[in-house]
Amino acid sequence: MAKRRQLYEGKAKVIFEGPEPGTVVQYFKDDATAFNNKKQGTITGKGVLNNRISEYLMVKLADIGIPTHFVRRLNMREQLVREVEIVPIEVVVRNIVAGSLAKRFDMPEGTPLPRSIVEYYYKSDELDDPMISEEHITAFGWATPQDMDEIMSMSLRINDFLVGLFLGIGIRLVDFKLEFGRVYEEDQMRLILADEISPDNCRLWDKDTNEKLDKDRFRRDMGNVEGAYQEVARRLGILPESGPGDIPGTDTMQ
Ligand code: UDP
Repeated sequence: MAKRRQLYEGKAKVIFEGPEPGTVVQYFKDDATAFNNKKQGTITGKGVLNNRISEYLMVKLADIGIPTHFVRRLNMREQLVREVEIVPIEVVVRNIVAGSLAKRFDMPEGTPLPRSIVEYYYKSDELDDPMISEEHITAFGWATPQDMDEIMSMSLRINDFLVGLFLGIGIRLVDFKLEFGRVYEEDQMRLILADEISPDNCRLWDKDTNEKLDKDRFRRDMGNVEGAYQEVARRLGILPESGPGDIPGTDTMQ
């Protein structure tokens, strides 16, 4: 394959110049990091599985009218996505207490929340992704109040849809992180869902046993991380019997 220009390398993905203007190639690595890079490792086959899982979820979300950056999967580890200007905010939606929320309020993990909580964090490795409010976001000019209304309403719709989708395969969607990007069309700015949705940025617990099927297995050294990611793909119906080495593609253009 011809050498492509690398535009950006993150912790779990590399972004290359795309074949058409306004597109980039998102390459999924097996690298895993946690606690702001303090813990590093690899999860064999993770990139292949996340590429496929994120494709599947983004296509389903597009079907219900959520605009996403996903264009089509290119191969086992790469997908073509729309080039966006990333809004430097991590949107976390929570349905059940876990992780940093459990710590902050000294609450037991697993406590269901009477209503979903949406939190915002500023994307900055140097600052350790500090939690922020809409006041900070609008005062510092990262997004306008109108942008935030759109981000909030898309995030809640995504949550409602994904909660149902995962429950249908016996999985509780505990919490997850989203990122949004800006695209410009005929002088109009539009916000679309970007990044990825995968067990790297969701907490997924088996509905009956509460077994963790996500990156917490890596963060907490619980073992069988690959198996957990594979199980999510298997339940979504996208992991062939032969394993992650042989995943058929779909060609979904938006
Ligand atoms: N999350 C993420 N990237 C981050 C921080 C959090 O994808 O930089 C996800 C994480 O996987 C979980 C949710 O957001 O599904 C909430 O994470 P939390 O704030 O509890 O932080 P953590 O305990 O993961 O540090």
